[in-house]
Amino acid sequence: MYSKLLVPMDPQTPIEQIPGIGEYYLRKLKKLEIKTVENLVTHFPFRYDDFSALIPISNLSDGQIVTLQGNIWSIRNLRSRTGKFLTLATLADQTGTIDIVWFNQAYITKTLKPGTFVSVSGKVQIEYKKPKLLSPAYEILRERAQLSKTVHTGRLIPIYPETEGLTSKWLRAKIASILPQYIKETGEFLPEDLIKRQKLIGLTLALSKIHFPKNLQDVEKARKRLSFDELFILQLAAAQRRRKWKEQKKASKFSVESTKLEAFLKNLPFALTTAQKRSLSEILGDLQKETPANRLLEGDVGSGKTVVAAAAAYFSHQNGYLTLLAAPTEILAHQHQKTLEELLTAHKIKVGIWTGAKKEDGDVICGTHALLISYKPKREVGLVVVDEQHRFGVAQRGKFAQESATGKSPHILTMTATPIPRTLALTLYGDLDLSVLDEIPEGRQKIQTHVVPNFKRAAAYKFIENQITMGYQAFIITPFVEPSESMLSVKAATDEFIKLKGLFSKRVKLGLLHGRLKSNDKNKIMKSFKDKKIDILVATPVVEVGIDIPNATVMMIESADRFGLAQLHQLRGRVGRGKQRSYCLLFTDSNSLNSLKRLKSMEKIDIGFELAEIDLKMRGPGEIFGFKQSGYINLKIADISDQELIAQAQKEAKMLLGEDPNVQSYPQLAQKLKSLQQDYIQPN
Ligand code: ADP
Ligand code: MG
Repeated sequence: MYSKLLVPMDPQTPIEQIPGIGEYYLRKLKKLEIKTVENLVTHFPFRYDDFSALIPISNLSDGQIVTLQGNIWSIRNLRSRTGKFLTLATLADQTGTIDIVWFNQAYITKTLKPGTFVSVSGKVQIEYKKPKLLSPAYEILRERAQLSKTVHTGRLIPIYPETEGLTSKWLRAKIASILPQYIKETGEFLPEDLIKRQKLIGLTLALSKIHFPKNLQDVEKARKRLSFDELFILQLAAAQRRRKWKEQKKASKFSVESTKLEAFLKNLPFALTTAQKRSLSEILGDLQKETPANRLLEGDVGSGKTVVAAAAAYFSHQNGYLTLLAAPTEILAHQHQKTLEELLTAHKIKVGIWTGAKKEDGDVICGTHALLISYKPKREVGLVVVDEQHRFGVAQRGKFAQESATGKSPHILTMTATPIPRTLALTLYGDLDLSVLDEIPEGRQKIQTHVVPNFKRAAAYKFIENQITMGYQAFIITPFVEPSESMLSVKAATDEFIKLKGLFSKRVKLGLLHGRLKSNDKNKIMKSFKDKKIDILVATPVVEVGIDIPNATVMMIESADRFGLAQLHQLRGRVGRGKQRSYCLLFTDSNSLNSLKRLKSMEKIDIGFELAEIDLKMRGPGEIFGFKQSGYINLKIADISDQELIAQAQKEAKMLLGEDPNVQSYPQLAQKLKSLQQDYIQPN
C-alpha cells in the first residue's frame, strides 16, 4: 500500500512540487510568471466560454453552442489527402446520434474508446439535416456526472492567458486539481468587519468562483472581491513605503529665500503658468523639509516641466548642493543640458554632462540613468531629478535615494509626460506626492491633426515634400511590427525607409533612427536632423524621439491604431515647437469603427489628460502606456478605471493603518504585503 503523497499547498510552494510539472512545464509556466502555487491560482481567466447549455442530441439547432453528454459509439482516425489526421467519432445519447470531427489530434483515439461516457462542448453545424460538432472540447466522465463536476465542458469554461505549448485546457486542469486543497489550507486574510462593510465574498469562495463559476453573477462577485484585494494591498504597500521613507530617510533641509526666488523668476523669458507656480511651490515646500521629497511632476508635453525642475536645481545650488538630472536617453540628456544652461548660466551655475560620449563636471549634471548609479559626486547631492519616470521601476527609484556619506538622502523629483489620470497615479504611485501641470503655456499653437484615409497617402507625401521645399522638416514613424526593437522590426523599418526614399524626390534627405543603432550613431543622426542635414527623420515606433526640433512641422504616424492616444499625443508634441503651423498625420490599416473613432478624437482634443481618460474608458489602462509598460505594476484583475472600488480600497487602507500601522493584528495580510514588497519593491 502506498500512502497518498500530499504536497503542502502553501501559497509559496514552488510550482515544480505539483505532480505532473516537470522541466518542460516549469519553463512554460515561467513565461507566464507562474512560479508558486499562489501564482497559479491567481492566474485569472480573462474570459469564459459559455458551455452551460446541456441539450439532447435530437434538439440541436444550427450555430448553437452546446454541451452534449453520451457514449462514444464509434471512433477512428483517417488520414486526409493532404496528410492531416482526422478523428471521426459518433456520439449517442438517449435521443439520437451526432458526428464529431477533430483535426490533427490522433491521440484522442487513445483516450476515447467506443463505450466511453463523455461530455463534449462546441458549436453545432447542421448540414443536410445532419448535426455535426467540429473540434469540440471534451472530457471523460466516470459516471453521469452532475454538470458542476465537469471542468472543460458543460459550464462556463475559463479561458486563461496562454503561452505556446501551454493551453487553457492544461491550466484549467491543473488549477482544478490543486484548488480544493489550496482552498482548504488558505485562510481569510481580510479583517472580518471590512468584508462585511464592503459586502465582499470570502477569499476561498472567490477563488473557486473565478475559476469555476456557475454563472456570470458568480464571476462578478469573485472579480469584485479579488480586485478589491489587489487594490487594497497596493494601497497598503504604498502607504507603508511612504511611511518608511519618512521615518528612515533624512534629507538636507534647503532654505528657500523669496528674494532668490524672485530673482530666478525675473530672469525667465516668460511668466510661469498658474499650474507651474502651484507645482513649484509644492516642490519648494518639500525641499525645505527634513524628509527627502519624493514627488512626481506630471505634465503634458510642452507644459513646461523643465523650468520647474530648473528652479529646484537653482535652490539646490544656492544651498551648496549638487543636482543630478537623469533622462532616459543620451540625446535627451544633452538636450536638458542645453535647456538648463539657458536657464541657469545667468545665475553662475555650471551645467555639466555625464554620458558615454562626453563628461563635463558642473553644479548640475545631466546624464542617463547610469549617472545615478555610477557617477561619483565630489560634493553632496541635494537633489535628483528623473525625467520620464515611466522608464524607471520602483526599485530603481529606491536606488536613486541612496544615502550619502553624511547619512542624508537627496530630494527626488520625478517628471513624466505620460498623462496618468489622478486616480490612476494615486493607485500606482500612492507613495509619491503628486503635482500636476494641467495647463499649457499661452500662445502655443494647435497642431492640425488628420486621420488620413489610405487613398490620400500620395497626397500626404506630396504635402510633406512641400513643407520640406519651404525649408521645414518632418518625422515619419514607421509601421508597428512588434513591441520590441527586434531584428524583424528593424528590417521592417529599413524596408519602409527604402520605400520612402523612392517616394520623395532626390533632393529630400532622409535619415533612419531605430533602437538597434549604437548610441553614438543615434546621436549623429539626431544631430544631423537638428542641423537640417536631414529633412525627414524616419523612426521606429519604439525609438525615443523626445527631442526639440522647432523647425519640424509634420509628424506622420503609421499604424496609429497600435498606439495609445496619450502616446500619439506625445509623439505629436514633437512638432509645433516653433512658430510655423504644424501638422500631425495619422494612418491606420484598421477598419474597426471603434479604432477610427478613437483616432478621430485626436483631431478634436489636444489635452493629453483628456485623451488618456478616453483610452482609460475605451480600452483600459494598458493603452495609456501602450507597449512601454516596464516600470509599471501590472494589475492582475482589478480594473483601474473602477474609481469607486479604488476609493473604497483607499478608504479601508487608511482606516486599517490608522488603527494598526504595522498590520500586526493580521499576520496573513502582513505576510502578503511582505511578499509583495519582495516582488516589486526595492530592498532598502
Ligand atoms: P515639457 O513639459 O514637455 O518638458 P518643456 O519644459 O520642454 O516642456 O517646455 C516646453 C517649451 O515651453 C520650452 O521651450 C519652454 O521654454 C517653454 N515654456 C515653459 N514654460 C513656459 C511659460 N510659462 N510660458 C511660455 N513658455 C514656456
Ligand atoms: Mg521635457
